[in-house]
Amino acid sequence: MLQRDACLIINAGSSSLKFSVFLGSGKAELEAVINGQISGIGTEPRFLAKDASKRVLADQALEQSDRAALLGFLLRWIEREAEGVRLVAAGHRVVHGGTRFAAPVRLTPEVLAELEGLIPLAPLHQPHNLAAMKALAEVFPALPQVACFDTAFHQTQPWQSQTFAIPRELTEEGVRRYGFHGLSYEYIAQRLPQVAPELAEARVLVCHLGSGASLCAMRAGKSVDTSMGFTALDGVPMGTRPGSIDPGVLIYLMRQKGMGADEIERLLYHKSGLLGVSGISNDMRDLENSDAPAAAEALELFCHGVAKQGAALAGSMGGLDAVVFTAGVGENSTLVRSRVSEKLGWLGVTLDAAANRAKATRISAADSRIPVFVIPTDEERMIASHTLDTLAHGTARHALLAAE
Ligand code: ADP
Repeated sequence: MLQRDACLIINAGSSSLKFSVFLGSGKAELEAVINGQISGIGTEPRFLAKDASKRVLADQALEQSDRAALLGFLLRWIEREAEGVRLVAAGHRVVHGGTRFAAPVRLTPEVLAELEGLIPLAPLHQPHNLAAMKALAEVFPALPQVACFDTAFHQTQPWQSQTFAIPRELTEEGVRRYGFHGLSYEYIAQRLPQVAPELAEARVLVCHLGSGASLCAMRAGKSVDTSMGFTALDGVPMGTRPGSIDPGVLIYLMRQKGMGADEIERLLYHKSGLLGVSGISNDMRDLENSDAPAAAEALELFCHGVAKQGAALAGSMGGLDAVVFTAGVGENSTLVRSRVSEKLGWLGVTLDAAANRAKATRISAADSRIPVFVIPTDEERMIASHTLDTLAHGTARHALLAAE
């Protein structure tokens, strides 16, 4: 049977591992054929896989418990069920590349050791990203792996966007603003000129509003500033995270309530944001469907936070030429887009209500000074494209060295 090269993309979290399979050996021809996840890792693992038309291919409980065994299962399943697919590479979403990694990198033992050194910067995410890489290397050592970083896209930012006003020695130690959701912003930076070629050089505010949410100020497709900082806690309110909070609150909690680091971490990562304010849910859909005043307040706080950060980021760019909404809330919530745009009205943003309801690509009114777009993000495709590029260039460089 004719076999086609394919790339496995992995986004590994604490209890779940999301995956996709892309066919193709060049980025122009990448075709997403399967996606799914292994959930309940460490408790009751379950496997779900769908094809490109969202047809369920598998939905079953799994016996295996450790990551290597689960990845082994996934590889065997792909080999058996995805006809004609031959995996030639794996690409991983890795939350932190520190200051060292400004681009995707092929995994080697040295790279892995450097990435392990970054665990203190992202203790809730980085260990799981790396565990998946190590497990995959164990079960399929010949498969080349590439790490793609959520921080890398923001390395183009000027010094003043990356630096906290704290003593220099702390900055030099790495206590600085890194920014996240970079793979999503990079995808949008590539898509926007296809949708609106006249905006290739523009100052664009990209609102990545998902369960984690951040904003990026982008000029000519490069990150100039972003709302997340040292960790993914800063910026706008999120599903369960507060966004920007006066650091004095944390000192108060430590002194007056005797809270320790772990308790504060739980408060900030899991109990705040939409969930904390509404007391109902971290999911925007639930808040939109609720009549409870606290749900309306949570929604208002979210939109206020996005508009306020958006205005600040327009300042970082020295003006605003376009706005893009993306990710779960940004792509799907007519109400959030409408509220945020209203609050940015003074900057020249006016929506076309019907286009907004219809989720058109361009949702601004014909006479809006600032065009507004809804562009679905695709971080997995970005990783697949980076993985192929990184391996192709690595091979080319090796060939060059051999010829010398
Ligand atoms: P993640 O950060 O987990 O990748 P997503 O980008 O997938 O998050 O966004 C998930 C969130 O999107 C959900 O928690 C929900 O709040 C929101 N969402 C999804 N669909 C809708 C919808 N139709 N209306 C409002 N919000 C939605």
